[in-house]
Amino acid sequence: MFSSDELNHRLALVRQRIQRACERSRREPSSVTLVCVTKTVPVDVIEQVLALGITDLGENRVQEAKQKREAVIGNRPSVTWHLIGHLQRNKAKVAVELFDMIHSVDSIELAQELDRHAVQPREVLIQVNVSGETTKFGCRPEEAGALAQQILRASHLRLAGLMTMAPFSDDPESARPVFRRLRELRDRLALSVPLRLSMGMSQDFEVAIEEGADLVRVGTAIFGARSH
Ligand SMILES: *Cc1c(COP(=O)(O)O)cnc(C)c1O
Repeated sequence: MFSSDELNHRLALVRQRIQRACERSRREPSSVTLVCVTKTVPVDVIEQVLALGITDLGENRVQEAKQKREAVIGNRPSVTWHLIGHLQRNKAKVAVELFDMIHSVDSIELAQELDRHAVQPREVLIQVNVSGETTKFGCRPEEAGALAQQILRASHLRLAGLMTMAPFSDDPESARPVFRRLRELRDRLALSVPLRLSMGMSQDFEVAIEEGADLVRVGTAIFGARSH
């Protein structure tokens, strides 16, 4: 792990890259939310990025997030917790207790289960498998409309946007068509509620911003490579 100076420096670089991508695409930097992806990152390091002004944390596992949130960080009301990883239906109850925003809703059944367990309104995004890779989670683009209607009818869910992951590649440009297709899908759905786009990771967040990302999910560029 990095020293706090190093972490500060790496975070500043990411923020600068976000700012430049916004300038290139004539967008307000404040319109892009940096979700700091803290999976596998220990709690003391999470505390450090919170001290550096991070407000949004992304985790991909319910159990890991539960431990971090409860045991050490407590319920800091100023932090917005994002679930970015695949969610199994039997974890829906814990997920709505822990997370403010769930990016990975990909079926009507999961949406119903979340709605059933939510006590307070929860913001959810529909994960769309734009690239069609069989290894990726997410609904098919043609299923997104029906799923959106289902979420709009739910009493405790607020439809907040669409999420996608681009195929892994060393070339960020290869992600551009995928991000563009998510934006076009959003525009085609033409819903009465504004939908934010959650797209872009360390590899490709600048391209994602150029294509309209409102939330970028960045881990490695801040914390370095995860060791498993
Ligand atoms: C891990 C993860 C990220 C962050 O990936 P990095 O390459 O470390 O920036 C973003 N989104 C999802 C869904 C992830 O699982």
